[in-house]
Amino acid sequence: MTEEELATERKAIAREYRALLKNSPRVTTAVDKVLVRKAFDLAVDAHRDTRRKSGEAYIFHPVAVARIVSEEIGLGTTSIVCALLHDVVEDTEISLDDIESLFGERVRSIIDGLTKIKGAQFTENVSIQAENFRKMLLTLSEDVRVILIKLADRLHNMRTLESMRDDKQQKITSETLYLYSPLAHRLGLYNIKSELEDLCLKYKEPEVYGEIELSLTKTKAVRTRFINQITLPIKRQLEKSGFQFEIKSRTKSIYSIYNKMLTKSIPLEEIYDVFAIRIIIESELDQEKSDCWKAYSIVTDFYKPNPDRLRDWISTPKSNGYESLHTTVMSPTGKWVEVQIRTRRMDEIAEMGYAAHWKYKESASEHALDEWISRIRETLQNPNPSALDFIDDFKLNLFSKEIFVFTPKGEIKNLPHSATALDFAFEIHTQVGAKCIGAKLNHKLVPLSTQLKSGDQVEILTSAKQKPKEDWLRFVVTAKAKSNIKGLLKEERKRVAMDGREILSRKMRNLKLENSEANIQKIQSFFRLNSSLELFYQIGKEKLDLSRLSTLKKEKGRLKYRATKRPKSATLQEIVTKIDTKNTNLVIGDSMENLDYKIAHCCNPIPGDNIFGFITVNDGIKIHRQNCPNAIQLMSNYAYRIMKAKWTNTEVISFLAAIRITGIDQVGLVSEVTKVISNEYHVNMRSISFDTDDGIFEGTVRVYVNDTTHLTELMRKLKNIDGVTNVSRIKGEASEPTITDSN
Ligand code: MN
Repeated sequence: MTEEELATERKAIAREYRALLKNSPRVTTAVDKVLVRKAFDLAVDAHRDTRRKSGEAYIFHPVAVARIVSEEIGLGTTSIVCALLHDVVEDTEISLDDIESLFGERVRSIIDGLTKIKGAQFTENVSIQAENFRKMLLTLSEDVRVILIKLADRLHNMRTLESMRDDKQQKITSETLYLYSPLAHRLGLYNIKSELEDLCLKYKEPEVYGEIELSLTKTKAVRTRFINQITLPIKRQLEKSGFQFEIKSRTKSIYSIYNKMLTKSIPLEEIYDVFAIRIIIESELDQEKSDCWKAYSIVTDFYKPNPDRLRDWISTPKSNGYESLHTTVMSPTGKWVEVQIRTRRMDEIAEMGYAAHWKYKESASEHALDEWISRIRETLQNPNPSALDFIDDFKLNLFSKEIFVFTPKGEIKNLPHSATALDFAFEIHTQVGAKCIGAKLNHKLVPLSTQLKSGDQVEILTSAKQKPKEDWLRFVVTAKAKSNIKGLLKEERKRVAMDGREILSRKMRNLKLENSEANIQKIQSFFRLNSSLELFYQIGKEKLDLSRLSTLKKEKGRLKYRATKRPKSATLQEIVTKIDTKNTNLVIGDSMENLDYKIAHCCNPIPGDNIFGFITVNDGIKIHRQNCPNAIQLMSNYAYRIMKAKWTNTEVISFLAAIRITGIDQVGLVSEVTKVISNEYHVNMRSISFDTDDGIFEGTVRVYVNDTTHLTELMRKLKNIDGVTNVSRIKGEASEPTITDSN
């Protein structure tokens, strides 16, 4: 950089610092100001030789974090000082002792906490589950300000993610979605939560993000007209009744719209609650409740409310402090519209958390801060007294990948989403799982395969006669249950095989056959089995007709039998594996080498998909799609095992992709579908299956394609077939709508 550029940069830094001071209403006394200045000077000096990935001087980052802490969360001097210094111990020569001697013990312990969180997440070789993270935050942070500053730090990093490497972006966004946005939600920092989620989507699914953003802009005029129309009579009546108020309409965050499209698999146009109308009333503290209900009565004089959708968070505020009255009413055009009624105070608290709080309790601002902070600590510390409330909150966000269920004694067990009663049984004890015959779910008898929901109380019923079954493996999801069942089945198999061996010995004695290894092997190949264990097992299960053995030739107690050899044709699995391990089609790692890899079967990426490599314990590098349902968890828990990967497309090879086709059942449809596929150049069909139910058919087609272009082209053609209503690519268990119905 030239002298001139450096001078400009110094001016810009000074400008940011002045903005920080100007927008920090809680830095009031001379002592406060001196402290902030001292922290700023120290940070400038400590970071003087470092630059961020974007090229700008590092100091811009801590100043920006300090501004978020002050302006968007509403914290005071201590927090601002800590935000300015949050990276110095980790990244520079300055030690915690230095910090303590300059700023005291309090600041030291907060910075210490911040440094520990940073270390814990990126280096520790453990999977950090929601519960563990919560515990970690608690033990690390004597002071809740640690968490708030960490959130501000993450928000600024997300805002400036652009200059990061692609794989880093994916790591950081996954972690943000998994940990930080749910945390912001828990703390009532609604604006920060929404912004974090939107930024995540922008980096995870840039096309979808752009599409939704564009569509929202395009439909804005129509929406405004509709809102004006519907609010007009309400406005008039509120005025007549002497209210001071403001009516806002708030569009949902792009992320929550996207989530709705995904979970309900409906196109954007069909999401009715893209926006909500908000009535904000100016009201005296002691009049708030009755004023809100008066406004409610005015709204429902004009529009009929849906009684199922009335939410009164004024009488009982949410645990994160949220207060508001929500109702959904029928508009004259037959559309449901959500209306939120709240006072100015409630609105500001809902949007900004504490920043608004102290404004309303100016006289005792420090005290109010303490109150708010101790409330957060309580929320984090003790989910039990209002366990259901706690769970409800968590259902709303990504933590819903986990469920919380209760034992009959009220103990909480953590299980992955879609875990069954049998998983729960194995969670309690291997023997409970092995002997499990059924379960009582909230006191009602249900089968073992029943999927559990958060909040369920589960009691397991056992019987001494029960034996583990092969079938169980179909519906358990936890690794613990799976490996236990497999182990038990193996034991059981051994036991049956021992019986079988006994039976075979007797039979051989009857036939005057030597009980020799050679004879057993001949019998084994006679029945075309792979191992003697398998032979004994089948006999033990009485699945083989041993009387057939008397037809075999023998000589002096030895069997004369030669198995005819049949050439084995390659199985489909072998073909797929062969294709997978061709390693010329993508490059992996920082140096972009041609490493050996396998395609992950949970999401089956094909050239053109955004991908990453994941180093598995036993199976080398697996390539996943970046939007793979497992990816978020992999990336946030095992960030250090993620490798960058990119398609190179140097050679044409085939990849397996699965397509789901749904539509109205009619004659000739299947043949039409197969015709389209076989006519498509570069596409080979591997399997096809169709199911019809009540005039609706659903088909799954597996094809080999070269890349996404071919696949998209094929899907477009399938979509054009008469009777076909939807064509989508299957990714893992969840399906991803790539072509929405345009008819
Ligand atoms: Mn930082």
